[in-house]
Amino acid sequence: MKKIKIALFWQILIALVLAVLYGVFLSPTYKLTQKTFSKLEKHQVNTATIQNLASIENIKYDSKSEFKDNLKKTLTSEQYELHSERIVQVTSTKYISWVSWLGDLFMRALKMIIVPLILTSIISGVTNMGSGENLGRLGLKTMAYYTMTSVFAIITGLFFVNLIKPGKGADLGFVSEVEGLSEANESFGSTLLEIIPENFFASLTSGHMLSIIFFAILFGFFITKVSEKPRVMLTDFFNSSFDVMMKITQFIIKFTPLGIFGIVAKVISEQDDIVGLASRLGLYMLVVIMGLAFHGLVTLPLIVKFVGKANPFAHMRAMRNALVTAFSTSSSGATLSLTIDNVRKNSGVSNRISSFTLPLGATVNMDGTALYELVVAMFIAQAYGVEMSIGMQIIAVITALLASIGAAGIPMAGLVMISVVLTAMGLPLEGLGLVLAVDRILDMFRTTINVWSDSCAAVVIAKSEGETLKV
Ligand code: ASP
Repeated sequence: MKKIKIALFWQILIALVLAVLYGVFLSPTYKLTQKTFSKLEKHQVNTATIQNLASIENIKYDSKSEFKDNLKKTLTSEQYELHSERIVQVTSTKYISWVSWLGDLFMRALKMIIVPLILTSIISGVTNMGSGENLGRLGLKTMAYYTMTSVFAIITGLFFVNLIKPGKGADLGFVSEVEGLSEANESFGSTLLEIIPENFFASLTSGHMLSIIFFAILFGFFITKVSEKPRVMLTDFFNSSFDVMMKITQFIIKFTPLGIFGIVAKVISEQDDIVGLASRLGLYMLVVIMGLAFHGLVTLPLIVKFVGKANPFAHMRAMRNALVTAFSTSSSGATLSLTIDNVRKNSGVSNRISSFTLPLGATVNMDGTALYELVVAMFIAQAYGVEMSIGMQIIAVITALLASIGAAGIPMAGLVMISVVLTAMGLPLEGLGLVLAVDRILDMFRTTINVWSDSCAAVVIAKSEGETLKV
C-alpha cells in the first residue's frame, strides 16, 4: 500500500484547527453535584461552606468567571477567600487534561534543547567566523540591525495607536495580580550587569540566556586563539555537538502537530468568554494585530527585498513551520530549534551566520513584543485620559525597546515587562486590567513576528556577507 505523506505544515494546520474545535467544544464546565460535595468534604472544606453551596447545586456554568461570580454571591467572603480555588478545581470537568499532556511533553522537549542548542550553536558559529575582526563586525552589524527593526515596529505601533485611539473611553476593569510584575521592575536595571555571569553553571541551570550567550561568544572567540591542536579539536567538538543538537531537533519537530494540538486546545479552553472580551477590547486587539501585520507583511518584506535583495515571500514559505510553531507555542525560545532548521535548510543561510544571529535574536530581538509594549502603554494612557506629550512618547518608545530586549522568549514574558514601561511613564499598574485577559492570545501573534523578524535578519545579514541563498 502506498503511504500517504502529508507535509508537516499541513499536519500542523490540521492540528491547529482540531485544537480550536476541541478547546471550544470541550472547554471546562462547572457543576456542583453530590459527588463534588463529598470530594470537597475530603478536601476539608467545612460543612457551613458546603451547606451554603447547596443553593447552586446541579446548576451548570459554562465559564469560570460566571461560576466564580456565583460562588462569591453564595458564600461569605471568608469562605470564598479560603475555599473558592479548591471548589473551582474540584468542580470543573477535565476533558482538557486528556490532551494537554501532549502539549506539556512537547514544550518540555523544546525547552530541553534550548540551552545546549544556544551554547553549541554560538560556540560553533563564532569559531567558524575566523578572525576577531569578523566577529566584532558581524556582532555590531547584527545588533544595529536588530535595534533598527525593533524601532520600526514600535513606530508602526505608535502610528496605529495614535490613529485609532482604542483606549478612549475603554473600561479597564479590575486587575488581578500578575506574577513577577514588581520583580521584573527591580531587576531590569541589573539586566545589563548580569550579562556577565558570576557562575556560568548557575546560568546554564537557570537558563539565563544573555549570560549563556556572552560566555559562549567568549569561549568561541578564545578557541580561535589557542594553538592548533586544541583549536581543531574543540572546533570539531562543538561543530559536531551542534550537528547532534540539530538532529535531536529534527526528531522533536516530527511531533509538532501533536504538541501543538495539546497546547492550543488548552489555551483556547482557558479563555473565558472570548467573544465578550473581543467585543469590549476589539479595537485594542485590532490595533495590536494590525500593527504586527503591517510590520510583518510590509516593513520586514521590504527590508528583505531591498536591503537583503532576497525574495521575502519565498523566505516566508521557507519559514512556515517555524512561524506556525511560534504562533502555537508563544515562545521564541522554544521555537529557536525550528527557526535555525528552517533558515538553514530551506532558506539556505550558512551555519556561520544562522548560528550566531538566531540564538541572539531569539533572546534580544523581539519586534512584535516591542510594538505590543508600546501599544499597551499608550492604550492605558488613553484610557486614563493622560495627555501624552511628544517627550513622553519618546520615553515610551525607548522603554518599549528596552523591555523587548529584556523580555525572555517564553509565553507571556512581554506582559511582565509592561510594568517597566508603565512605571517609566508614570502610569498606574492597575491599568493592566483587561489587557491581561487577552494577553495570551495576542502573545501568539507577537511571537510569530518576533521569530519572523529574526529569520529576516539572518537572510539580510547573510546576503550582506556575500552569501548566495535559496530565497
Ligand atoms: N512570548 C514572546 C516570545 O517568546 C515574548 C512575549 O511575551 O512578548 O517571543
